[in-house]
Amino acid sequence: MTTNSGSGLDGMAGFLILVGIATTIFWMVVGWRAMRAHERIAEASEKTAGIPQKPKAIEVEPESLCVSCDKTIPAGAKVCPACGWTKPNWRI
Ligand SMILES: [Zn+2]
Repeated sequence: MTTNSGSGLDGMAGFLILVGIATTIFWMVVGWRAMRAHERIAEASEKTAGIPQKPKAIEVEPESLCVSCDKTIPAGAKVCPACGWTKPNWRI
């Protein structure tokens, strides 16, 4: 009897190696993205830390309230249209 099942095992091993590499890359990307997101959050909190904010500033979806005059600032605006105050939580 000549057994020639080596090729089958090789195929399985190759497949497992590919899966292992794909899994490694996947988690590297996930970790990298999580790190980047964490950095952005840290930067954002550093930016807002220096500006006096009212307690319990409710983050309204696209719009936000001016910390200076309490008027609504549109999502696209970088400064308050009413008084020119910079939005405290505007994002890049
Ligand atoms: Zn204002």
